[in-house]
Amino acid sequence: MKHYRAYCFDLDGTVYRGKEVIPTAIQFIHQLEDKQLDYFFVTNNSSKTPSQIKQTLQQFGLNVSEKQIYSSSLVTAKYVKKHFGQAKVFVIGQDGIRYALQQEGIDIVEENPDVVVMGIDRKIDYEKLTKACIAVQNGATLIGTNEDIKFPTEKGFHPGNGSFVKLVSQVSNVEPMFMGKPSPVMLEMIQQEYGYNKNEMLMIGDNYDTDILCGIRFGCDTVHVNTGVVNTEKVKEKGVQPTYCINDLSEFEL
Ligand SMILES: [Mg+2]
Repeated sequence: MKHYRAYCFDLDGTVYRGKEVIPTAIQFIHQLEDKQLDYFFVTNNSSKTPSQIKQTLQQFGLNVSEKQIYSSSLVTAKYVKKHFGQAKVFVIGQDGIRYALQQEGIDIVEENPDVVVMGIDRKIDYEKLTKACIAVQNGATLIGTNEDIKFPTEKGFHPGNGSFVKLVSQVSNVEPMFMGKPSPVMLEMIQQEYGYNKNEMLMIGDNYDTDILCGIRFGCDTVHVNTGVVNTEKVKEKGVQPTYCINDLSEFEL
C-alpha cells in the first residue's frame, strides 16, 4: 500500500457506528499519531459544532483539535461568505450550521433572504419549509449542506437533509447546490489550507455514494471500509472502484 501525508476519515460507519466505537479505526488513528501523520475528519453532519464533534471523539478515546474537523456546515458558511458576502440568509438547521454562519459574520434573517441554507433540522415544520419555498420562488439561492436522503439508525432509516432540500427544490422548481460529500469542496479546503498534493491525500469511508465519490471527484486515492452502511459486495458492482476495499482498518498497512 502506498504512503500518504493526509488521511481523511468519514465519521459514522467509519470511526464509530451510532453510539458504538469501531476499535480498529481508533487503533489505526493512534498509529497515525505515533507516525506523526496528518489526519482529518470530513463529515456531512451539519447539526453539530466542531466542539461537539470533538467531544464525541473524546468519548471514543481520540484527542483531536477542532482544526482537524471539516463539516458540511463549516464549508457551507465559508462558501456563503466567499460568494454572497453581504447576503441575508434564511436558515433551516441546528446548532452546527447556525454557529458556522455566525462565525463567518453572516446576516441571518427570517424575511426576504438572498440565500436559503438548509441543514438537518430535527424540529423542521410546515411553516419553515413554506418560508423556504416562498423565498426560493422569489429568487433566493438554495444551498443544502448535504444531499443525504436518509441515514441509518437502530430503528431504521430516518429522513436526511437531502429529502427536505428536495422538497423545497421541487415545490420551487429550482435546482439546489450542495456542499457536503460527494461534492469535493471539503477535501479542496483541506488541500488549500495545508498545501498537500492530491496524490498525498487519502479519503476513507463506508459509503460509496458520498465518501468514495467525493474522493474520486476530488482526484485522490480512496479506501472503502466494510464497517458501515454499504457492504463490499455492493461496492464491487460500481463502475469506478475505490483504490482499496478492506473489511476494516486493521487491514491497512501504514
Ligand atoms: Mg459514513
